[in-house]
Amino acid sequence: MQNQTTIEKITSLAKRRGFVFPSSEIYGGFAAVYDYGHYGILLKNNLAAAWWKHMVQLRPDVVGLDSAIFMHPTTWKASGHVDGFDDPQIDCRDCKARMRADHMLEAFGIDADKMSAAEINEQIEKLKTEGKELKCISCGKKNLTPAKRFSLMVKSNLGSPTDALSEENVVYLRPETCGGIYLNYKNTLDSTRVKLPFGIAQVGKAFRNEIVARQFIFRTREFEQMEMQYFLHPSDMNRKYEEWKEARWQWYLEYGIKAENLRWYKHIKLAHYAAAAFDIEYNYTALGGFKEMEGIHQRGDWDLSQHSKFSGQKLDYTDPKSGEKFIPHIMETSVGLNRMFFAFLHEAYTEEGEGEDMRVVLKFDKRLAPVKIAVFPLLKNKPELVAKAEEVFKNLAKNYMCEFDDNGNIGKRYRRQDEIGTPYCVTIDFDTLEKDNCVTVRDRDTMQQERVSLENLSVYFAEKFV
Ligand code: ATP
Repeated sequence: MQNQTTIEKITSLAKRRGFVFPSSEIYGGFAAVYDYGHYGILLKNNLAAAWWKHMVQLRPDVVGLDSAIFMHPTTWKASGHVDGFDDPQIDCRDCKARMRADHMLEAFGIDADKMSAAEINEQIEKLKTEGKELKCISCGKKNLTPAKRFSLMVKSNLGSPTDALSEENVVYLRPETCGGIYLNYKNTLDSTRVKLPFGIAQVGKAFRNEIVARQFIFRTREFEQMEMQYFLHPSDMNRKYEEWKEARWQWYLEYGIKAENLRWYKHIKLAHYAAAAFDIEYNYTALGGFKEMEGIHQRGDWDLSQHSKFSGQKLDYTDPKSGEKFIPHIMETSVGLNRMFFAFLHEAYTEEGEGEDMRVVLKFDKRLAPVKIAVFPLLKNKPELVAKAEEVFKNLAKNYMCEFDDNGNIGKRYRRQDEIGTPYCVTIDFDTLEKDNCVTVRDRDTMQQERVSLENLSVYFAEKFV
C-alpha cells in the first residue's frame, strides 16, 4: 500500500481529530508553537512511557530525573550556549521571510552548520560567481540580506518586581534538558546505588528561538526532549556507544517504524570535544524526505569538566576497585518527543480503498494507540442498549483507555475510530441483551468482526494487549 501522506493531510487530520492544534488560534496563531488535544496528549504520553520503559524500567544501569526548567544562568555560560548557541539567518528584503542559511546552503552540498556568518557569506559570494544564486524559499526572489548569527536562547526574568527587568536577573529557559542531568550527576551518584557506567534519563520541556518555515511540529519553539546521558570510563566508550546505537534503532522497529524509513546520518564536522556523532533520520516524506529525529552523540568529558571549572566543585569519579580518579566521559541519546510523535503519526497514516469505500486509518502499534477500545450501543435511543454499553465501558475503562460513542450510524463511528487509530470497537446490540450475551468486536486493521461473549471479554482483550 502506497503511503500518500502529505503535510496538508497530516495537519488537517491532526486538527480535525483533536491531536494537534496551532497555538492561540483565535488570536491568529503563534508561530511554531502547537497545542496537543485529547488524542494528542494520549499518544504523546504513550510514546514517552514506551521510551521510559526501555530506557529506565528495563535497564538496571539507568535512573530517572526531572530537573527544573529554570537553572542557574552560569550553567549556560559553562555549556557554551550563551556565547555560541546560534543559527545563521537570512532574511528576504521583499517578503520578509526568515530562513536558515545553513539549510539553504545544504541544497548546494555545503555543510555550513559550524561556519561563522563571514564564512557563510563568502560561500554565498562564491556560489554567485558560479552562476548559482540563493533564492527566497517563500517568494523566489533574490533580494536577500547577508547571513548573520541569531541566538536560539530564550530569555526570561526572575526577581522582585522593581528589578525584574535588570540584566543580572536574566534567566534562560533551558534549550536542552541535559543541563539538568549534568548538574545532578553527583546527587544521583550519592543518592542511588549506581556505579559507572550508568545513565540518567529525563523527559521535559526545552525552548529555542528557532527560525522556522512551515514544518508543523518538526521544529517548534517550545518542545519536549527525551534525553539520556550515559557516564562511563573512556575505555568503555566505543563498546557502549555501539550498544546504545543498536538499542535505539531497535526501539523504533519494535514500535512499528519500518526499517526502510530509518537511516543513519554520520556527522562529519564534530564539536571539538566529540569523537563521534550519529543521528537516526526518519523519512518524513511529507517534509520532503529523511530528516534528523534522534541524535546519539559522544561528548567526551567536556560537560562535567566545564561545570566543574565554572562551579569550582569536584565532579570526578573514583573507581571503587582500582582507585583511579577521573572525570567520567559521556555519550547521549537525545530525541524530541514531538518530532518523534510526528514520525509515528506519519508512519501510521494510511489510506485504503477507493471512492465511497476509501478510509483513512492510523495504524499505530496497539501499545501506542491513544484509545484502545471504543464502546458503542447500536442505537442511542434505546435505554437498555445504552445502559448495557455503559456497563461494558465502565468495566473495560478500569484497564484501558476507552471511548464511549453513541453518535451517528455504526459505519461513521468506525471511520472516526479508524482516524484516531483505535484498535478495537465493541458494539452492544439487541442480540447481546436478548440472545447470546455476546458483543461484536471489530478489528481496526482487518475490519473483521467477531462475536465475543461478555464473560470472556476481559480475557479476550488481555490477550490482544499483551
Ligand atoms: P536541528 O539540527 O534539527 O536543529 P539539533 O541538531 O539542533 O536539531 P539537538 O540539539 O541535537 O538538535 O537536539 C536533540 C533532538 O531534539 C533533535 O534530534 C530533535 O529530535 C529535538 N529537537 C531539537 N530542536 C527541536 C525543535 N526546535 N523542535 C522539536 N524538536 C527539536
